[in-house]
Amino acid sequence: MFEAVKLTLRAKLALTYGTIVALTLAGFAAIAYVTVSNELLRNLDASLQRAGTSLLDIIRKEQQQARKPLASLKSRRRISSGDALRVDILDRPNMRNFVGPVLNSETVEPEDPVWSAVYEHMLLNSSNTALQLATLEGGVAWKSERLGTDSLPTFGLFAREAASATPAPIFSHYWLRGERYRIVMIANDVASVTAAYPLSEVDQTLRRLFSLLLYGMPLALVVSGILGWFIARSSLKSVDDITQSARSITASNLQLRLPKSPNNDEIARLIDTLNDMIARLEQSFAQVRQFTSDASHELKTPLAILMGELGVALRRPMTAQEYQSTLASCLEEVERLANVVQGLLEISRAESGQVTIERKPLSLSGLVGDICDDMLLMAESKHVGFTTDIAPDVKIVGDKTRLHQAVLNIVENAIKYTPEGGSVRVELLAIDGRARLLVSDTGIGIAAEDLAHIYDRFFRVDKARSQNIQGTGLGLSIVKWILDAHQATIDVVSAEGSGTTFKITFVTL
Ligand code: ADP
Repeated sequence: MFEAVKLTLRAKLALTYGTIVALTLAGFAAIAYVTVSNELLRNLDASLQRAGTSLLDIIRKEQQQARKPLASLKSRRRISSGDALRVDILDRPNMRNFVGPVLNSETVEPEDPVWSAVYEHMLLNSSNTALQLATLEGGVAWKSERLGTDSLPTFGLFAREAASATPAPIFSHYWLRGERYRIVMIANDVASVTAAYPLSEVDQTLRRLFSLLLYGMPLALVVSGILGWFIARSSLKSVDDITQSARSITASNLQLRLPKSPNNDEIARLIDTLNDMIARLEQSFAQVRQFTSDASHELKTPLAILMGELGVALRRPMTAQEYQSTLASCLEEVERLANVVQGLLEISRAESGQVTIERKPLSLSGLVGDICDDMLLMAESKHVGFTTDIAPDVKIVGDKTRLHQAVLNIVENAIKYTPEGGSVRVELLAIDGRARLLVSDTGIGIAAEDLAHIYDRFFRVDKARSQNIQGTGLGLSIVKWILDAHQATIDVVSAEGSGTTFKITFVTL
């Protein structure tokens, strides 16, 4: 919604909040206005209907007693527009609202229920309600004073046609002397009553409600907007604080952490997550630094030897045999350099995800058997005993080339780190859907404190170095990566001076 203009999160939140409040208020105002307007009209209709119905009920009761229609009531009481009769009840002080039949006290009982009801009603709503009583023929028998010479519509002919049953009341609007009235026309089988009430009061109430909503809404909107702004500001303050602290953490001071939040809320979780991320970054940076220094150290030694050998060869003339031995020594160092560079290349490719691991069914028995055949020669030349026990038909899914590289490295290490006279044993077993490869030797072993580091890059146990055994310290870290990629596990058991056993477990097909 706010993408076009670059707004701060705080402004976006306040605007969204304000818009939601405005829409809610507008909806609420519309519903309130319509409901109040309907309710006022309904109440007005109900009270007009009540007034008319009660009047009609009394008239019917009266008629039942007299068993005469209103016309005869009229004649009995001599009600006619021309008659100027008198009745006690209409002489009472508040009866000025009445107009029409003025009954004679001699002919009408003072406690006449019809007029009592009219009188009572008029007393209650003396000023505004107008009533009109008509015969079924539509002739006006009596009406409120406020109507003056005007008349309200009557049920008339319709009422007579429907006289068998009580017809439903008719609700309508009616203009009288420039004023709008709500009218209810009710009839029974005796007479019809029209009750009217000016709508100006209802309109006035609705106008008041409308102005209240009109002025109240923007006010509420402004107040909620300001509140929304403050809420957004206070909620985002901690985010601002995190931004400030995070800015001060750079590659050179990755040991710093964001200050912890005392609350256990989203911000606290964000801080924890960022701190974890910084810790991981710190670790990666440290690894990269270590790796670079180890790599340069590994490259420095053979390069220094190379430079020394070549320098000597250049400084003084040598015999052909001496040149040959210098060149052989140089070749050895170059091979060592090539191994280090090859190892580094493989690790960096693996880490950058450039190496894809094939997933094809292969015979692990065949793969281990081939490696052992090759390694037998190396063991024999070192005078190390070499025995195997390889279960047939052990099949797994994986990358043949990579697995060959990993197993070869383990077996090669076993022979490399086993002195003359020792022995190496390679076993492949199939147990419960798993293949277990055990490579044991009776070699120099690995000290307990070094065991945890043997998969680290460039890690070489000092003893291996001092005994001048060739190696780069990269082999086992590549082995670990290959086995991880095959969901295989590697464990090592070793005792310094008595030998080492590597145990690799694969999931079989
Ligand atoms: P390297 O090229 O030095 O053999 P590796 O990563 O393969 O590098 O092995 C790391 C170190 O672990 C070796 O330098 C050696 O000290 C130790 N190591 C590995 N295998 C054995 C073993 N079978 N017996 C004794 N030490 C071993």
